[in-house]
This record gives sequence, structure tokens and C-alpha cells, in this order.
Amino acid sequence: MPTEAATPRLIDRFGRQITYVRLSVTDRCDLRCVYCMAEDMTFLPRAQVLTLDEIALVGEAFAGLGVRKFRLTGGEPLRRNNVMHLVRRLGRLDGLGELVMTTNGTRLSELADDLRAAGVRRINVSLDSLQPERFRHLTRVGDLATVLQGIEAARSAGFERIKLNAVILRNRNHDEVLDLARFALERDMDISFIEEMPLGVTGVEDRFEAYYSSEAILDDLAGHFDLVASTETTGGPSRYYRAAGYRGRIGLISPHSHNFCADCNRVRVTAEGKLLLCLGQENAIDLRRVVRANPGDVGALQQAITEGIRNKPQGHEFAVGGQPVILRRMNMTGG
Ligand code: SAM
Ligand code: SF4
Repeated sequence: MPTEAATPRLIDRFGRQITYVRLSVTDRCDLRCVYCMAEDMTFLPRAQVLTLDEIALVGEAFAGLGVRKFRLTGGEPLRRNNVMHLVRRLGRLDGLGELVMTTNGTRLSELADDLRAAGVRRINVSLDSLQPERFRHLTRVGDLATVLQGIEAARSAGFERIKLNAVILRNRNHDEVLDLARFALERDMDISFIEEMPLGVTGVEDRFEAYYSSEAILDDLAGHFDLVASTETTGGPSRYYRAAGYRGRIGLISPHSHNFCADCNRVRVTAEGKLLLCLGQENAIDLRRVVRANPGDVGALQQAITEGIRNKPQGHEFAVGGQPVILRRMNMTGG
């Protein structure tokens, strides 16, 4: 057994230990959410995307460096062929504390039980509206009923926690904050409200107009719930509130109004194997090149990762209004 001192750890120049990796398993998606994608999308050629075995190897490398939590995301992770093969492999990794997923829910009816059985403990489902027409408008093509069935399937599958994620945009869905909160809390689910981040050109033309702050969301909720700020953290950028009388929590993810960089414990790996050191910056390490030059070699990956982490930037540089500072869209980044 390795001693505590001998366990490798990934620590950056600012003393932050990296324990959490978000793995994007595909850039593709069956939806086209207005804040995430353009209507017409060109996706990566298959050869540029890591194979499921390559992603599993990257996961193994990180787990061996002390990473304790993986989130599978995308694009839509459940739209990747045979994704359950990857989920099962990651679920068996030694020492992994948490395997979680963020999904749009369109395939959860089929896959929720398999995900739970493979070791996924918590799941986040994106849901921006409870109104069918508006849901279709926001996702451009989505069917609300399919996602609601998926959420029910997840509730029956026995995940430890289900969290809804809602991106709130002024004049598009900001009047649903209360309905969405009630929907989640009455079903013992958490909900996080997310401020839109200016990533890529997507068709929400004026992002300053669309911006709806976490403080406005809190105001919307305050008259209806007895909210108490919670000190709990999931190691992420959410600030949580407890609502008296409910098990579920309300989270606010506020990249604009609250800078969360000082506690950042995470990095991202894109579908093409770029290790992104910060959501809001362009620095990246090409893990695909490393894994393809050294097939099956976890050590080579670990060396590239360890060297790369030293360059993790201190913080993000988002701006509201004007041009997006980052040209990658969220489906490329792995939300
Ligand atoms: N397809 C899955 C889903 O929608 O849950 C996983 C990937 S998606 C990129 C992950 C999360 O990022 C979703 O909750 C989505 O709402 C959020 N997201 C996408 N684009 C965003 C943006 N520009 N600003 C803030 N959140 C965004
Ligand atoms: Fe697809 Fe998720 Fe982006 Fe929506 S937010 S387009 S579901 S990847």
C-alpha cells in the first residue's frame, strides 16, 4: 500500500491540487442549445476524436496521479456509441472516489439503470424550461417529454443525487426560475442556475442583453423559499443554498459575478484529447499526440500531464458583452 506521502499528487504553481477531471467523450450532440452551439455545426472528424480506449487510458493516468473524481460530459456523452464500455472501465478504477456525468437526458430512459450499475453515483441533467415550446426553442430541436421521462428514469435508478442544471437567459427563460426550482425541490433533486458564459459564437447575438445575474435569480427565489446559504461545497464553482423544508439544494454558478478561480481543483480533457488547464483560457496540452505516440503507456501520459499542470493559469478572463474572449464553444470544451 502506498503511504499518504508517497501518493502522487498533481499540484500547480499556485498550490492548487488537481483532484477533479472533466472528460469530454464527444463534441457531438442531438440538441443545439442556443447558448452552446450554432444551428449548423461541423463536428470533428472521427479520427481526431480519442477512442474510448484512449479516453480510458487518460482516465487511468489521472487516477494514478491522485485524481479522485471524473465527470463525463460533452457534447452529449450518452450519444457516443458504446459509451457504457468506457463508463464501466472508469467505474472499476482503483481509488476513484466519484464518477459522475452531465447529460441532456434524452437517452436516460434507456441508460439510467446501466449508468447506476456501472458505478455512476451522481448525475446532472440539463433542463432550461418546463414549457414544451420554449424547451424546443432553447434547444432548437429538443422534446421536453423525452427529457422529463429521462429524469424520472434517473430518479427510479437510485442515484445518490440528481442535479438539474439550468442556464438562465434574460427574456428567454428568466421567468421560469421559480418553476424550475419548485420542480427540482419537490422531487428531492438539487438545481443549479448557471450564468451564461461567453464561449464561442452560437447565435445568441447579444450576450449582454441575455445576461441574467445570480443575484437576480436569488431575488426571484427569496420571496418564495426560506433560503440559507450553505457552507457545503462539491468542490465546484456552485454556491449552495438550503431551502427550509426541502432535501434538495439550490446552487448558483456565477462565472461573471463571482470569480471561483482561487479554489479551482479541476482540469478538462476535450474529445480530441486536449488537456485544458482553464475553462476561460486557451492553454492546452495535446494528450492525443502523447497517447498515439506511446500506445498503452500510462507513464508517458502521466509525465505530460504533470508537466502541463505546472502551467495552469491563475484565473479566467471572461468578459460580458462584445466579442466572446474564447472561441471554443462549450460542446468543444466539455461543460
Ligand atoms: N450535453 C450535456 C448537457 O447539456 O448537460 C453535457 C454537455 S453541456 C456543454 C454541459 C453544461 O454546460 C450544460 O448544463 C449546459 O447548459 C452548459 N452550457 C453550455 N453552454 C454554456 C454557456 N455558454 N454558458 C453556460 N453554460 C453553458
Ligand atoms: Fe448539447 Fe449539452 Fe450543448 Fe445543449 S448544452 S447543445 S445538450 S452539448
